Amino acid sequence: MTDLIHLPDLTAAELIDFVQSLGAPAYRGRQIFTALHARRTGDFDGITELPKAFRQQLSSRAATRSLTVEQRYISADGTRRLLLKTHDNLPVETVFIPEERRDTICFSSQSGCPLKCDFCLTAKLGLLRTLTAGEIVEQIIISLNDAYGEGVETPRGTNLVAMGAGEPMLAFDSLMKALSIMADPKGLHIVPNRVTVSTAGIVPRIYELAQIPDRPHLAISLSAPNDELRNVLMPINKRWSIAELMQACKAFEQSLKRGERFTFEYVMLDGVNDGDEHARELAALLKRHNLRAKVNLIPHNAAEGLAYLPSTPERVAAFKGILESHNIAAYVRRPRGQDIYAACGQLAAKRASNPLALTNIVARSASTQPSLASPSSIV
Ligand code: SAH
Repeated sequence: MTDLIHLPDLTAAELIDFVQSLGAPAYRGRQIFTALHARRTGDFDGITELPKAFRQQLSSRAATRSLTVEQRYISADGTRRLLLKTHDNLPVETVFIPEERRDTICFSSQSGCPLKCDFCLTAKLGLLRTLTAGEIVEQIIISLNDAYGEGVETPRGTNLVAMGAGEPMLAFDSLMKALSIMADPKGLHIVPNRVTVSTAGIVPRIYELAQIPDRPHLAISLSAPNDELRNVLMPINKRWSIAELMQACKAFEQSLKRGERFTFEYVMLDGVNDGDEHARELAALLKRHNLRAKVNLIPHNAAEGLAYLPSTPERVAAFKGILESHNIAAYVRRPRGQDIYAACGQLAAKRASNPLALTNIVARSASTQPSLASPSSIV
């Protein structure tokens, strides 16, 4: 694989250059691009419009896939979690979330993650490697094929969220290239306006993103209303404080389109950051900076190896109420795919270490029983 050109990593223009370097005309490049991205074809033989000899020549120089599907889990709620592996054997996870009007695919930007957020399981892996643009694009292609079948037109639109494993702002070049490949109308045609990038707060990249005309939406993982607590929960805060983060948000606000807001995500940890006083402090912080923002409250998804418990629904409701009483829009995110460890912060959980437990969950999901298994009851 390493010697082969990974075709999903190429823009249409690069693909044209590549086929021309093989002595083929430009339109062959366009045919391949459409086959790979619009039809989501996984092998050269599926690109029947190419002469057989050219297909053979291509397959000796290039690959259509670099990720392989290791396992697939399907939740009782329809969420599909794919465990993929890179050509150099590193784990990548992608979660497909069907929704009534659109589908959402949560993709990874890195294998593992270098940030050490204390409530997130992916953090325990450390950084294994930043993914390439092609590996990001391929996650989307594989995920759509898994849900609908290769070549089948998707019935709904697709939203993307860079909220899987990794810190997308530390995979900036790969991410931006992947977004431009995916936006191509001759291919997947998922435009940046359908993409949300979530960051733990890599401040210089927030300024940089604001300068990009056709940029994705931004979500900021805040999870604490003051530096003292955020330093503990999200150590990246020691590098860029809340004040610096807010300043970057203020600058980013200039780039917001009409009706666009940015999102603060707040993971709710029982007895840690979910008190009335935290809600009031958060409201004061957001008011002070007068940001066009909403808050998404994410009840903590527990997993073995994480020290926290989720806030109770009553606590979450009270917290939300306080934000709203200060005129701050707040939403509670319904966890999806919790029974298959597909929810936020659970990626990297329960891979090969306990495959039996997962088999049971898959079996249970396939049955009509709708109840979600609590993670602790599975292990
Ligand atoms: N590194 C990026 C994107 C990945 S995390 C970021 O930090 O934003 C995606 C979201 O999941 C973040 O908002 C993060 O705070 C949240 N998250 C992490 N661990 C979680 C957990 N155990 N339960 C609920 N949400 C979690």
